[in-house]
Amino acid sequence: MLGHSHATSGALAWAGAAAALPLSVLTFPALQYGHLGTVDLLMGTFLTAGAALLPDADHPNGTISHVLGPISHAACKLISRVSGGHRHATHSLAFVALVAYGTWAGEHWLGRWFTLGLVFFLLALAVRSLNLCPPGEGPRSYFTVMVLAAAGTFAMDQWISDKPSWLPFSVGLGALAHLIGDCLTDRGCRLFWPFQIRTRIPIIDRTGNKLETWIISPLFTLGTLAVLWYTITHHP
Ligand SMILES: [Zn+2]
Repeated sequence: MLGHSHATSGALAWAGAAAALPLSVLTFPALQYGHLGTVDLLMGTFLTAGAALLPDADHPNGTISHVLGPISHAACKLISRVSGGHRHATHSLAFVALVAYGTWAGEHWLGRWFTLGLVFFLLALAVRSLNLCPPGEGPRSYFTVMVLAAAGTFAMDQWISDKPSWLPFSVGLGALAHLIGDCLTDRGCRLFWPFQIRTRIPIIDRTGNKLETWIISPLFTLGTLAVLWYTITHHP
């Protein structure tokens, strides 16, 4: 699947989860009650969209690899080697658990700078994959990504507490949405890695096809906006 399909599926998953699930589930294990504020809802949408790119950290030519220039490219090459190549360890339920727990542990033990760093990175991924910046690898595109991600991180720092307790859920959900998307393609994923079983329900025949660009991504985007609008107007 393409980056924008993954990102919009993550956004939709977040909007749906925020509308349907109680806050105690979204903030597990911190267990808060009540409803998410509008800023949390909107930030969560972009952060989950960004997190939906994380499993492709095993792909040296994917969106995630180019987002921060040579730094992310080197990191992706390393992750690809360690995880056994594309669609192995990072495309498993174990990876979902790892990123969700890692986010919780980072927020809990490392604190504010970890949270802001992660937010910046996920927002950069979201801006890139949702095509909110000029296309290509040029300086204009890179600069736009940096500025928008920095602005979002600043907003997060201003309006949301040090440890947004829904962040681990958001990151795990984004990664899970990615795996579901890849399972719908021909290659499938090894969800139960390290076991060899490959899960696949091939509905989408080839990555990069027109179906994704012209139908799936726009539908996911519209769905996200509709669910967010419903949630915001029903829980003011
Ligand atoms: Zn993937």
